[in-house]
Amino acid sequence: MKKYLLMAPGPTAIPSQVLLAMARPVIHHRTPEFKAILKEVNQGLKHLFKTKNPVVTLSASGTGAMEAAVVNTLSRGDRALVVRGGKFGERWGDLCEAYGVEAIHIDVEWGHAADPAEIKKALDENPGIRAVFTTLCETSTCVRNDIEAIGKIVAGSQAIFVVDAVSGLCAEDLKTDEWGVDIAVTGSQKALMLPPGLAFASVSPKAEALIKSSDLPKFYLSFAKALKSLEKDDTPFTSAVSLIFGLKESITLLKEEGLENVIKRHARLAHATREAARALGLDLLAKSPSNVATAMIMPDGIDAEKLRKILSADMNITVAGGQDALKGSVIRVAHLGYCSESDTITTISAIEMALRKLGHDCEPGVGVAAVEKALSE
Ligand code: PMP
Repeated sequence: MKKYLLMAPGPTAIPSQVLLAMARPVIHHRTPEFKAILKEVNQGLKHLFKTKNPVVTLSASGTGAMEAAVVNTLSRGDRALVVRGGKFGERWGDLCEAYGVEAIHIDVEWGHAADPAEIKKALDENPGIRAVFTTLCETSTCVRNDIEAIGKIVAGSQAIFVVDAVSGLCAEDLKTDEWGVDIAVTGSQKALMLPPGLAFASVSPKAEALIKSSDLPKFYLSFAKALKSLEKDDTPFTSAVSLIFGLKESITLLKEEGLENVIKRHARLAHATREAARALGLDLLAKSPSNVATAMIMPDGIDAEKLRKILSADMNITVAGGQDALKGSVIRVAHLGYCSESDTITTISAIEMALRKLGHDCEPGVGVAAVEKALSE
């Protein structure tokens, strides 16, 4: 038997307190007891999103909240600006296309962050843009975008500002209201330390105004229905009761640690992981790295997928591989959610051993030494 270590940028490991909370018997979702729990988690979500606006909970994976953001605010033939610097930026474009929204793409080289000036230029050149779709952490490249700077630009336009914070929320700072984010979306299986299955979206008054005029088809993902129920601490359909029990517990844990400390923990582990990669002679893909995960470029002749197989077979550790064109050339090592210093040390040590097994020239312990040094700074 080998102890399992899940070091991918979602799904992430789940604390035992959360697992135990989800193991309690299911209660009916229309009872006063459950409504009291919903009330508490709805308040807690606002705290995590740093918003005074309502945060809608959907029984879906993160993409469900992305789709909801599109279908609830836009209308057929509307134009939207899509920042595309990786797999998840592309998803905004795919969603627009699926619903007949004209997407104007700002293509960013994978590994780079979006340049806010380009967004300003595109907004100036294309009057009538209804929405700007961006990504806080582009998990496919591990890049963090400057949401604060982009928010300042979008605030001066009539467009709503929509941020995919599926992997980023609670790992990176996201001041939803202060930065002018009209809709931020996230998923349960990342920094919220829950299984996959819940998606969340904050909705500003500017976004609510668009909901009234939107004519795209929707039923299950209707924000109007969800917001109406939310006022009564209810949900339009059957809640994912057990996941909500877990959410209550994970919010308690995040509050106990303190949101700012949670973000600092992510930043610290991210820094240590990057230092380890450098010490191992691996280049980093992200020019503007995120706290969520670190994309390490494999040296010539080393196949990332082979390395992942060794990590899995020898150590029972899961890290993510590269997506699309990056498959085989990068590994993505997470420091997301329920992740500790010892998890990072163990993972770097295992990567070091696997690299050596594949013929990479590195001294045993150099990566771990770099982690130790970074963590004691
Ligand atoms: N956006 C980002 C930034 C993500 O990291 C992910 C999940 N990896 C998604 C969207 C999609 O979420 P899901 O797989 O939960 O639908």
